[in-house]
Amino acid sequence: MKVLKFGGSSVADAERIKSVKDIVAGKAGENKQVVVVSAFGGVTDLLLQAAEKASRRDEEYTRLFTQLEERHLNTVQQLLPIASQSKTLSHVKRELNTLETLLEGAFLIGETTPKLLDSILSYGELLSSYIISQYFGAEGLDTIHKDSRSLVITDERYGCATVDFTTTNTLCETYFGTVTYDVVVVPGFVAASAAGNSTTLGRGGSDYTAAIIAGAVNASVLEIWTDVSGMYTANPKLVKQAFTIPDISYEEAMELSHFGAKVLYPPTIQPVLLKGIPVHIRNTFKPDQQGTSIRKNTNGATRPVRGISHVDHIALLSLEGSGMVGISGISKRFFGVLSDGDINVALITQASSEHSICVGIAQSDMEKAEKAVNEAFEYEIASRKLNPVSVESDLAIIALVGDNMKSHQGLSGKMFSALGQNNVNIRAIAQGASERNISAVINKADVKKALNTLHERFFEDHVKQLNIFVMGVGNVGEKFLQQIERQKKYLREKLKLNVRVVALSNSRRMYFDENGISLKNWKELLEQGETAHIDTFFEKVRSLNLRNSIFVDNTASDVVAATYAGYLENSIAVVTCNKIASSSGYENYSLLKELSRKYNAPFLFETNVGAGLPIIDTLKNLVASGDKVNKIQAVLSGSLNFVFNNFDDKTPFDEVVRQAQAEGYTEPDPKIDLSGIDVMRKILILARESGYALDIEDIANEPFLPEESLDTGTVDDFYASLVKHRTHFEHIYQEAASKGCRLKYVAGFEDGKASVGLQHIPKDHPFYNLEGKDNIVLFFTERYSDQPLLVKGAGAGADVTASGIFADIIRAGNF
Ligand code: ADP
Ligand code: ASP
Ligand code: MG
Repeated sequence: MKVLKFGGSSVADAERIKSVKDIVAGKAGENKQVVVVSAFGGVTDLLLQAAEKASRRDEEYTRLFTQLEERHLNTVQQLLPIASQSKTLSHVKRELNTLETLLEGAFLIGETTPKLLDSILSYGELLSSYIISQYFGAEGLDTIHKDSRSLVITDERYGCATVDFTTTNTLCETYFGTVTYDVVVVPGFVAASAAGNSTTLGRGGSDYTAAIIAGAVNASVLEIWTDVSGMYTANPKLVKQAFTIPDISYEEAMELSHFGAKVLYPPTIQPVLLKGIPVHIRNTFKPDQQGTSIRKNTNGATRPVRGISHVDHIALLSLEGSGMVGISGISKRFFGVLSDGDINVALITQASSEHSICVGIAQSDMEKAEKAVNEAFEYEIASRKLNPVSVESDLAIIALVGDNMKSHQGLSGKMFSALGQNNVNIRAIAQGASERNISAVINKADVKKALNTLHERFFEDHVKQLNIFVMGVGNVGEKFLQQIERQKKYLREKLKLNVRVVALSNSRRMYFDENGISLKNWKELLEQGETAHIDTFFEKVRSLNLRNSIFVDNTASDVVAATYAGYLENSIAVVTCNKIASSSGYENYSLLKELSRKYNAPFLFETNVGAGLPIIDTLKNLVASGDKVNKIQAVLSGSLNFVFNNFDDKTPFDEVVRQAQAEGYTEPDPKIDLSGIDVMRKILILARESGYALDIEDIANEPFLPEESLDTGTVDDFYASLVKHRTHFEHIYQEAASKGCRLKYVAGFEDGKASVGLQHIPKDHPFYNLEGKDNIVLFFTERYSDQPLLVKGAGAGADVTASGIFADIIRAGNF
């Protein structure tokens, strides 16, 4: 005999019930089949709502009842040929009448007792099983309907009754031992007490009914047919990358379901485990897929962790105090109180100092538990031996499960470091002595991120998903998006990085897509986005709470730079080509560095100096490996280099500046480059990264612009002033040319002091032949004392800057 159970979504409507019939009919003749069914999807919830409204004397309940009535009658009409409908319809109507009377009763007395509620709830399964059995019959299957209330006998703990296995097994053996029909359709979830009252087995309990019958008749297999293809490595609704676990042991399945894998009701395993009956979890909508096989000896697992699950709505209850130390019996009393109050404990931790005991319980039990424990320890609390019990709510438990975890070291280290890197705060930890489970209590809001982080860590062959939030899609931003699109495949295959852009914003619009924005048509998508706002953008990034999040600033805005701290504090990495933050006051710079360390969130700004050239990274490596920077000499302005390389006695200075701006080599305001401010910021950043606490005021700057040009307000005024002072610039040129020198704008740092200014560079100097918009940096260090370490190359331009940002993203990804 085989037992098949079909869940609520498998029997949600007539179409689905037809698929169920196909599955059952496909097996007809092989074996006798017991088909256990749930209520039609959503019906148990509707019944609960109707009962709740009736008990509050809310007449709305009648509307819900009408919905239930129509749904069942319509299903009969859709499934059965007209000629054979009347018998079924009249039975269903009779049952519905009784249900209506029960609801009316609740309405009149303004109450539902647990006993009445179980009677009301039983109608979901009683109706679905009857209708399905009639339909099977009409389709030619040799079928009978059997009410489980004459098979499964329980105590009278309404809502979650305990099964009397001795009686139940005898009743099942007798009935199924003699039944001659090929297919017996049985309602799940519903049972009866010895006195004949309807009881239920707890939400999700149809799985259990099926397992009880399978155990009693020693079935060859128990098949649980549901809406997913088996038990997954994590809840597939929350973790997109989760996949079916083909084989799993009874213990592992029990542990996963106990910790929230709803696909299997936790008590289900017990009756089949005793008899060694294999359980298959299959997908009604994809019957060709293998699903999960649960049995005694599974194939050797390739990974130590089999699955990850979670339980929502958890509260932590802690009893603490000096009076606990060394006094025996406190734990016994504590757990006694919880047990007397029917409060189920999901997780226990006790520090070895015996100073505190902490338990995880269902949030719905929190108030009851708090009151009961405080009352039980009233004396100890009054005499200050114990503190009043402390409670924390809105928590969840996440658990790693696997039989083989015990033979692997370092799993909890990996688990907690992965969570820590993503700023998931861990409130309590427990590891069972069997080492089949490591669980942690975390904030409810972090569940999705935590599950995905752990899934990535333990199941995804180390492909790491990076979630990128891009602000600024101008020249650099656009190139950056192009580069990501081009490199996507390579990054995934070679670097095991899955880079997804989740948000884009310019100054007008912002657009979010949690599943990754298509970079083929991002411009149109962004235009459809909502009105941009820096704070709303931040709030959205934060509340999405995705793992490995990286905020990318491609703007030159001080307002955007002011938001970095917020990102870092939420463990969101910051990658920026905007120099404002790293060249702001030293206090702010070091605060950002500190936040980056504290929250494990990289703060990277390689492109602040020399665009895509590896200057800051080289410097960091020198310092980290113990070298000491004594002197830096550099040409750091691509724009000034371009200007002075093209400026001669034939072209006026202002025209060269205009050309540089037109080609995209200057800041939007060219005065920032020509006044030397931009170079000051860059040498400041290099000095700081070399370990010196400098501020912008500490840098000497001998400007080459006339004072009047420096004082202009607008870009137009600035150009006008350059035109006015053409002779001033001609003079500068002639002075250098007369000595056979070229003009270079040089930044220097030595003996803790930095300076910037225009210099005459003679022919034999390494800077003399610096072409176009190139940058060059010479690092004189303890190790590179005679011959400096030299980095040289294009130091401006959207393409190279974008590639520098890209390189920072990869650094952040490998962090
Ligand atoms: P049924 O109505 O068939 O009993 P349930 O809704 O009770 O179905 O259980 C199936 C659901 O369990 C899936 O749709 C999925 O959302 C959820 N689930 C949670 N964790 C897991 C997991 N680890 N594997 C598979 N499904 C899971
Ligand atoms: N119908 C019940 C519920 O929704 C039992 C089940 O579906 O397993 O909880
Ligand atoms: Mg279920």
